[in-house]
Amino acid sequence: MASLSLEHIYKKYPNGFEAVKDFNLEIADKEFVIFVGPSGCGKSTTLRMIAGLEEISEGTLKIDGKVVNDVEPKDRDIAMVFQNYALYPHMTVYDNMAFGLKLRKVPKDQIDKMVREAARILDLEHLLERKPKALSGGQRQRVAMGRAIVRDPKVFLMDEPLSNLDAKLRVQMRTEISKLHERLGATIIYVTHDQTEAMTLGTRIVVMKDGVVQQVDTPQTLYNAPDNLFVAGFIGSPQMNFMDAEVKKKGEDVYLKVGSHSLLLPPGKAKVLLEKGYEGKVVTAGIRPENVSDSEIMLSQYESASFESEINVYELLGAEVFLYFELEGFSMTARVDPRTTARTGDMVKFALDMEHIHLFDKETERSIV
Ligand code: ATP
Repeated sequence: MASLSLEHIYKKYPNGFEAVKDFNLEIADKEFVIFVGPSGCGKSTTLRMIAGLEEISEGTLKIDGKVVNDVEPKDRDIAMVFQNYALYPHMTVYDNMAFGLKLRKVPKDQIDKMVREAARILDLEHLLERKPKALSGGQRQRVAMGRAIVRDPKVFLMDEPLSNLDAKLRVQMRTEISKLHERLGATIIYVTHDQTEAMTLGTRIVVMKDGVVQQVDTPQTLYNAPDNLFVAGFIGSPQMNFMDAEVKKKGEDVYLKVGSHSLLLPPGKAKVLLEKGYEGKVVTAGIRPENVSDSEIMLSQYESASFESEINVYELLGAEVFLYFELEGFSMTARVDPRTTARTGDMVKFALDMEHIHLFDKETERSIV
């Protein structure tokens, strides 16, 4: 059982660089929280401060309500799994998992019980006598997890544990880790720069950029209601399409003007834009590739938000097709039905599902509606 509380946490390195700025987060017991963001955004630094491997420059870290800023790493009851899982090559799987317990002078029969229980959970029972070199990448990663599990820690910290695995194994291990979280009922904090991993694993995601938390939410909310332009662009693959658009009022109707194209806004979004004083201003409009369509149904529903464009690239991925084109100089991607007849070089009529358009302030980059 463990809850964590990070209050106004800062990390300033001796060279003066601020890697983490005013990080605030409450993590409930049994939560699976993901820290995600581009390289260098401060994810690992934050995790290492929680582990006690890095000093906290400012702020308070609590585990189960107790301040642990000055508690030694070994006394924090935390286990960390790294990306280079560094197993001892000369030891068997069993000994690799038992090693930490032996060091702590845990009685032999208890070690045996703990190692076998971890091996059962991780499906490693048949591999206990093998050496690491006789294991696959995924099996080695499971042993590394096993080493953490036998310690029965309050909190698991995982720093890109899957980044050394190939694509297929990563997907497999992702499912394993989800199941593990359920079985152990443990609190897990997991660092990755891979937004797909974040979206599929976490119950809550912390998106970071330049040492600053951008948004903390469930995967679904991050996807459907990003707080700012960065989160909108970072979460989702292929990326959300962005374009500059001027907010224009004509009679009762409000349009987004993108170059020579006028895209009619639904009344709800129009109302918010007007109320917030955006009439006549340029905003950043964002729309996900699945909300750009060449289907008859969408074209008839959103005739007032349609335009024609030449396909630059047609990409068939099996269950879906990506069409790449330009709209007034802005690069666009449409994710369409594979039965589409559109091909590279064709002029195609597209409609935007305007109920799903996101609008951001050009200066602050914050979401307007
Ligand atoms: P990655 O995904 O590449 O591991 P990250 O988000 O985990 O990135 P951190 O490792 O937390 O990033 O690093 C955050 C920033 O702090 C980076 O810009 C890094 O260069 C800087 N940094 C890390 N360690 C030190 C140090 N000892 N001294 C000065 N700056 C450091």
